[in-house]
Amino acid sequence: MTKILLQIIFIAIFCVSGYSQKSEMSNAFKNKEFEKVIELGKQVIQSEPNDFDGLLGIGKAYNILNEFNDAIPYLEKAKNCSDKDWQYAWANIELMESYYTIGNIKKAQEFYENSLKYKGTKNSTKKLRGLALLFGFDKAYEDWETKETKNIIFHFQNGTLISDKEQYITERQKAFSNINTFFKSNLPKKIDFFVWKSNDEAIKVLNKSLGFSKPKYCISHNRDNQTKGHEIAHNISFWLDKTNKRNRLINEGIGVYFDQTNTNRLEKAKNAIPNQKIDIKELWINGNKFSEQILYPIAGAFVEYLISLDKEKFIELCKNQSYENAELIYGTELEKIISEFNKNLNK
Ligand SMILES: [Zn+2]
Repeated sequence: MTKILLQIIFIAIFCVSGYSQKSEMSNAFKNKEFEKVIELGKQVIQSEPNDFDGLLGIGKAYNILNEFNDAIPYLEKAKNCSDKDWQYAWANIELMESYYTIGNIKKAQEFYENSLKYKGTKNSTKKLRGLALLFGFDKAYEDWETKETKNIIFHFQNGTLISDKEQYITERQKAFSNINTFFKSNLPKKIDFFVWKSNDEAIKVLNKSLGFSKPKYCISHNRDNQTKGHEIAHNISFWLDKTNKRNRLINEGIGVYFDQTNTNRLEKAKNAIPNQKIDIKELWINGNKFSEQILYPIAGAFVEYLISLDKEKFIELCKNQSYENAELIYGTELEKIISEFNKNLNK
């Protein structure tokens, strides 16, 4: 009798501790503490190896942290431990994301097809729809033309106004090589480079204006008249360091500086603010308050200036682009750099 009672107490304690670990896990998720999610998830599956929530939580957190290869074994196991539709849906969607990002597009497509067979939750369905549109898996891409080079897979919508596609492709492949000669990044896959017929078409399908990149997935969606290098530079610079922290001024400065046009960037920056004085520190810290028309040209000129001062320090800055990190990298020089640039810009 005592033995049974002890067993009941033991099971009860075990359940409560498992429950509290899971609620801690979901709190860590809400607080975006993904390393903690992984740590707690591993505790959960240590005592209960087939626990779906533990396995899926770990896989999702690894995907968010761009550790896609680490996510896969947990997600495969989560899929095998699923018994409800929503569980199959989530496991398949996360696997689709992991495999796509490591460049196994065929497997990602298989998981996409599988995930369509299950009735997911509201959130999983939303994520599936978003990724299918982003990755080019959706039916909307059925009649698109695909061409592949060493580092880029081009996807052309029918009816683009590009007269010479071969030239278009060669120029962008060359832009990739030029830009990565600078960064020497290791991208996990080729860039999927979507070229839309028009911005209106993209808005109709994606509900979003062109052009933009999702460097996490090595993806760009482009208008047919964008510069050769801007979006490619976003993808390459992201993969300098997968734990990167980005800032609008530096990130867009990279896009503009590496756009492969040959222009006087400081003149362009000055022309963007004819009747205004700008402090680059303000743009760095509160970049979101400024319009694209003002921020982009100034950012391009500033990045050009930083690279001309010290390439190695600039590469360090690309990994964590915050103003605070710049203070660590440039030390007391930073104030001088900023005042010198402000002086030239507002002359
Ligand atoms: Zn950009």
